[in-house]
Amino acid sequence: MHNQFDFIVIGGGILGLSTARELQQRFPDKRVLVLEKESRPAQHQTGHNSGVIHAGVYYKPGSLKARFCKEGNAATKAFCREHAIPFDECGKLLVATNALELERMQGLIGRCAENELPIEVLDADQLKAREPNITGVGGIFVPSTGIVSYTRICEKMAELVVADGGEVRYNAEVLHIREQLEGVEVETELERFDGDFMIACAGLMSDRIVRMLGQTPDFKIIPFRGEYFLLPPQHNRIVNHLIYPIPDPDLPFLGVHLTRMIDGTVTVGPNAVLAFKREGYRKTDISLKDTVEMLTYPGLLKMLASNFKPGMMEMKNSLFRRGYLEQVRKYCPQLTLDDLTPYPAGVRAQAVAPDGSLVDDFLFVNTERSLVVCNAPSPAATSAIPIGAHIVDQVAQRGLG
Ligand SMILES: Cc1cc2nc3c(=O)[nH]c(=O)nc-3n(C[C@H](O)[C@H](O)[C@H](O)COP(=O)(O)OP(=O)(O)OC[C@H]3O[C@@H](n4cnc5c(N)ncnc54)[C@H](O)[C@@H]3O)c2cc1C
Repeated sequence: MHNQFDFIVIGGGILGLSTARELQQRFPDKRVLVLEKESRPAQHQTGHNSGVIHAGVYYKPGSLKARFCKEGNAATKAFCREHAIPFDECGKLLVATNALELERMQGLIGRCAENELPIEVLDADQLKAREPNITGVGGIFVPSTGIVSYTRICEKMAELVVADGGEVRYNAEVLHIREQLEGVEVETELERFDGDFMIACAGLMSDRIVRMLGQTPDFKIIPFRGEYFLLPPQHNRIVNHLIYPIPDPDLPFLGVHLTRMIDGTVTVGPNAVLAFKREGYRKTDISLKDTVEMLTYPGLLKMLASNFKPGMMEMKNSLFRRGYLEQVRKYCPQLTLDDLTPYPAGVRAQAVAPDGSLVDDFLFVNTERSLVVCNAPSPAATSAIPIGAHIVDQVAQRGLG
């Protein structure tokens, strides 16, 4: 009886924890359990990211990303205010460095208007006035972008889950799931838990959770390492805002940016290179299982074929810091190779469809007694609170609350 819960949540990253909180708030009488395989919260994507509270510049109007990012920007700041977690609404500058980028910038200005996002458009002089160390021919200033430690947010959420009568079990890797008519059985190495409903927010392992449920996922999680560098302390004040390039619309990631972190340091990154281990943070980390699974997936080969040139370029710049540096020097010319000091990488969980396309929006898979978050790339940390609310709406609609 002790291991009987109303809701079992897999994953102690920001999505699992925000969902657990939302379940408790909507259904205060229900028992909520969070199972996390690591010894602490936020040990994977959530604890290895840029810490940016995104505003929602890029996302397709009407998409879940556009909606949840905007709502999440406000909700994240409100959560931090309520729980005295430091954040800084430092704003972000998207910098165009040539005529092509200036043209692409017009597209982004239009997108901000469609997403009803307040921005300021800057010419080269206005850019210089805001950011003396940044060079460009124009830019977009987005005031509502901020920075925070998502690890701090997760620690607080986990504490609140427990304070409100829930349980968070660490070192509890879910190995088997059995779905039945009246509930779900979830097994770790040592214990079995029974729940009325299960929600999985397992990030890099989400397709494996779908398989544990006896389903065949119509996507595969492909890991992309995002490598960063840390600028030395004398550059902690090199920029006043976050500095982003104007992204190439054909590429899925945002480009190497200069990020002021909440601890006062400044990082450069992340790039996006194929990783050979799902939770492998060093260049040399290789998992035979993950690699074989990835290389035998037809979607991967199609993805590589259609992104061959940019993929090779990212790989080259990952191996040779000079190429990486040149991407930043386009807008911050004073940086040198000596300024790129080591910093831990992150690994993104990106769902790739069988046709090789990268799934862009958030993606959920539903079964009778469970819901699996299958694609939650950036800005999912920003969007975690509304995503949690969206998941709980679906649970409530099924009459399970
Ligand atoms: C390099 C990088 C930079 C990013 N920058 C930003 C940013 O600035 N702003 C932003 O909004 N987003 C950013 N993102 C995206 C954001 O970090 C993720 O979208 C978000 O953290 C996803 O949260 P999650 O809870 O789904 O995943 P995770 O944080 O990966 O959590 C999943 C958890 O599930 C656990 N788990 C998996 N399998 C099992 C199992 N079988 N049993 C028990 N536990 C299990 C894992 O141990 C893990 O703790 C970035 C991501 C990366 C990688």
